[in-house]
Amino acid sequence: MNWISEWALPKIQTWLGRKEVPDNLWHQCTACGQMIFQKDLDRNLHVCPHCGHHMRVSAMRRIEYTLDAGFQRIELPKAPADPLRFRDQRKYADRLKEAQLKGGMDDAVAVAHGAIDGRRAVVAAFEFSFMAGSMGAGVGEALVTAAKLAVLQDAPLIVFTASGGARMQEGAVSLMQMPRTVIATQMVKEAGLPFIVVLCDPTTGGVTASFAMLGDLQIAEPNALIGFAGARVIEQTVREKLPEGFQRAEYLLQHGILDMVVHRSEMRATLSRVISLLRERRPAEPLAEEPVELAAPPPPAPAA
Ligand SMILES: [Zn+2]
Repeated sequence: MNWISEWALPKIQTWLGRKEVPDNLWHQCTACGQMIFQKDLDRNLHVCPHCGHHMRVSAMRRIEYTLDAGFQRIELPKAPADPLRFRDQRKYADRLKEAQLKGGMDDAVAVAHGAIDGRRAVVAAFEFSFMAGSMGAGVGEALVTAAKLAVLQDAPLIVFTASGGARMQEGAVSLMQMPRTVIATQMVKEAGLPFIVVLCDPTTGGVTASFAMLGDLQIAEPNALIGFAGARVIEQTVREKLPEGFQRAEYLLQHGILDMVVHRSEMRATLSRVISLLRERRPAEPLAEEPVELAAPPPPAPAA
């Protein structure tokens, strides 16, 4: 501001031996309003200890929560930035640059490979704070890279999604990422490797409408918002009141869209168990010595 705050005040504070109290010691839960000590929140994997609300976490945190220590984050290939030279109130190139500077990521997905309880795995995680985790060419590139890596390493692919959908600023290029990511994940399946999707709050639009609904196993975090169009748009279109909990993980589980809703504290153990079930086949059981007896055929009818 001026020389007093920038120079004189810190000098006086150092001289008095006063330490500044960091302003991020406490965090208020957006669901129940309770104050939570930041350290407790970190220890609790960013789940509110009072009401169990699963807060949004960064892509890197998700990878840390999932993979064993010593995982490797991989460098992603550069995608063409701003292919349409798009501009709304601001230039897309400027928005992109700002998001990159703020989050220290090139785009909205981070990819790492490592292990879960010693079993190899490739994890791709969306960063919702990066332009609402929207899927443009960069995200498409990240998912293709993750899929290729999974095939190369003979490892399952786990994707944690959190996205507002396609990145409008890239127009048709962003829509092309839908078939592109589907083909990428298909590659994993064709190699006989598990493709597991963990839907996190919120997963909507073009991401839901493409690879995110094609997992061999569809897992979600509690109360995650998962859908294609927003509830208000649907309500206006069908002119009906939507049921309670519509587009929430538990509702989707009840209606057969999901396989599991898993608490964040259980996620790693669940993934580990699932991977071991899918990957470690038991030795084939020996065939029974005695042929199973079939019911005797009815005696032929006597000739007339
Ligand atoms: Zn809470």
